[in-house]
Amino acid sequence: MTDVFTEMLWTCSGDSHFSEPRDLFTNSLPKALADRLPRSEKISDTEEMVHIDGQSFRRKLPKPSSPEMAEARKKFSEAMAQGGLGASNGRERMKALDDQGVWGEVVFPSLGLWYGELKDPHLVHEAAKVANDFVKAELIDVSPRFVPTATLPLQSVELSVQEAQRAAGLGFKAVFLPVSLGEEMPRWNEDGWDVLWSACEEAGLVVAFHIGTDAQGIRPFKNPGGAILNYMETTFGGQKAAAMMVAGGALERHPDLRVLVSEGGATWAPFIGDRLNEAYRQHYMYDDGRLRKLPKEYIMEQVYASFQHDETAVPACEHMGYRNVMFGTDYPHIEGTFPHTQKVLHELLDGVTPEISHRIRLGAFLELFPSVGQPPI
Ligand code: MN
Repeated sequence: MTDVFTEMLWTCSGDSHFSEPRDLFTNSLPKALADRLPRSEKISDTEEMVHIDGQSFRRKLPKPSSPEMAEARKKFSEAMAQGGLGASNGRERMKALDDQGVWGEVVFPSLGLWYGELKDPHLVHEAAKVANDFVKAELIDVSPRFVPTATLPLQSVELSVQEAQRAAGLGFKAVFLPVSLGEEMPRWNEDGWDVLWSACEEAGLVVAFHIGTDAQGIRPFKNPGGAILNYMETTFGGQKAAAMMVAGGALERHPDLRVLVSEGGATWAPFIGDRLNEAYRQHYMYDDGRLRKLPKEYIMEQVYASFQHDETAVPACEHMGYRNVMFGTDYPHIEGTFPHTQKVLHELLDGVTPEISHRIRLGAFLELFPSVGQPPI
């Protein structure tokens, strides 16, 4: 598909996923523990069943948007079933990256996105260690172009700090956090997490939130319009998580800490910054006075945002002064740009200056993760 275009626009991706092999936990943990960890089983072409620590729920699989996409997904599912196409295999994955013009990528877990639903910190700690060791062998050891996010046992702050430090030692450059946790845990603006922010800042670990990971869940919309509304709802958690990191003072106390919000567009960042500034100015008498700068400054400097198709993400960088806009493929998910990444990049960026195009494809990413090196351009 790339030969249609005269120029390969090399990009990095702030948002990609790997699929854990089905036997990851059963091979590594005692059965009593492995049985309680998240697993999904496809029950029809449109639905899957997700099992988590004794509870099960049905989940609708996303519908392809075109016959071309349906065909691509079918091929992808067949290849995934055989462990191919790089969903859970680093060497195969590298071929897909080269084909799509993707140089480096942040790689999130798939089932690991659900660990927030578990309650037992020691169970999640065991799972996190297995998942992180797998990712190290499959991605970090294969190429510095992979930037996987470490899974943390967030049910315990102390165990999270311990695993973040161990992950940094394994070569991880980022940790994955869901946008919200269960009610029993402190929220991201609360001081209970400060030891984790210190550990991440000291170890050079980027704090990477992925949208659509609200532990509290959201009362789902039904038709008319339910599918579109439910998809839109998944976006807001990332904005709130970034705002919590700013308002609670985490980014003030840790000036070297960097936050990435993946898959949620980018134009929200200057917008949320404006809203926080208004609150800071007009409601200062109610605020506990932790911030030394206007809230928007922390967002613009320390928060990065990855988008895939959003047309307005480009002017956010070009015209709103928000430099931390980063392209993401969401590979291999259906919302993403696979297998037409080059087409999307050309449509988004052919009309902007080379400087802005470079910043969105490579510059912002390489600022956070210089260890991926430079693409061959
Ligand atoms: Mn994603």
